[in-house]
Amino acid sequence: MKAVALLPRSREVKVLELPEPALRSSTDVRVRTRAVGLCGTDTEVVQLRHGGPPPGEDFLIMGHEALGEVVEVGAEVRGLRPGDRVVPRVRRPCPVETCTPCRSGQPDFCITGQYTERGIQGRHGFCAEQFVEDVRYLHRVPAGLDDLDDVAVLTEPLTIAEKALRELERIQSRVPGWKGGGRAVVLGAGPVGLLGAMALQRAGFRTTMYSRSPRPNPKAEASERIGVPYLSSKEVSTEELARRAGPVDAVYEAAGVARAALDVLRILGPNGVFVLAGVPGPEEPLTLDGAGLMRHMVLHNQVVLGTVNAGARDFDAALEDLGRFSERWPGSLERLITARHPPEAYADVVLGRPGGIKHVIVFR
Ligand code: BGC
Repeated sequence: MKAVALLPRSREVKVLELPEPALRSSTDVRVRTRAVGLCGTDTEVVQLRHGGPPPGEDFLIMGHEALGEVVEVGAEVRGLRPGDRVVPRVRRPCPVETCTPCRSGQPDFCITGQYTERGIQGRHGFCAEQFVEDVRYLHRVPAGLDDLDDVAVLTEPLTIAEKALRELERIQSRVPGWKGGGRAVVLGAGPVGLLGAMALQRAGFRTTMYSRSPRPNPKAEASERIGVPYLSSKEVSTEELARRAGPVDAVYEAAGVARAALDVLRILGPNGVFVLAGVPGPEEPLTLDGAGLMRHMVLHNQVVLGTVNAGARDFDAALEDLGRFSERWPGSLERLITARHPPEAYADVVLGRPGGIKHVIVFR
């Protein structure tokens, strides 16, 4: 079978010809891959700035955002049959006995850092014609969604927002009289930002998108299509954003740009929560009024929350939400997928940073 692999020693990404994977245990499932989404993390991995191959191996099969179709199930697999569409989770637990999050099935909160992530860190990914995975790490795509031209490949980036939203709601339950929702700003209109905006809208937040590129552009159109006004940071200052959006209860940072994030942190409203989900690459060091920022945060009971990866319940929530989004905004999810590419194009897409929203590799 074809597999897209990173060979760190020669710094190459190649399509390798590998044997098809076989079931290793009675709870394994063999999956034929349909689509694999690409994101900034893949670029980081390919540039050798994050992650790497399994111990002792000289290549890493790429791909962590996947959608596939079950072709074979082990004897003890319940709830999945050949023909079902599935989405895999990314992170696998660390081996340390005392890591309670990993031992209780929540490696997204691993405390040792020894977790593995498929297609990212120490474990092969899904960017191959087939993969094998234990049934407990697979989520079935509900009927209805699987007709929508592979939009379930957007599940994984949406899980990041689902986890953030769950934690945000938990934190805000501290505020007397809080009934859910409020005013939200999303930073960065990439796939994680746009899916986050959909999730926030669904949860009752009045959401504004704040992103770099001036309108018109495809990201602005995608945002406005779901009823989220789009403001460009090149045209609208942070102060003006604060005036237009009103007191901001929640910010979802999905651009991974420290300068922009810290600038917007200054305008967070009373009892507000600032969620950091984007992982920044190298940036010039910046100067900021630290005391002013601290003062503002303390005097307004604010919370800054970092969040990474997602757990089983976030995948279930994302699959449910994709169904809701497709009913509420018909065609919007499909339009987030800018282009479909063959596996041979992987390196060009991941390193060339073509425009648009979500690029996917398809195996057909
Ligand atoms: C993935 C997460 C992963 C993180 C860090 C993100 O792109 O969506 O699943 O935990 O990268 O490797």
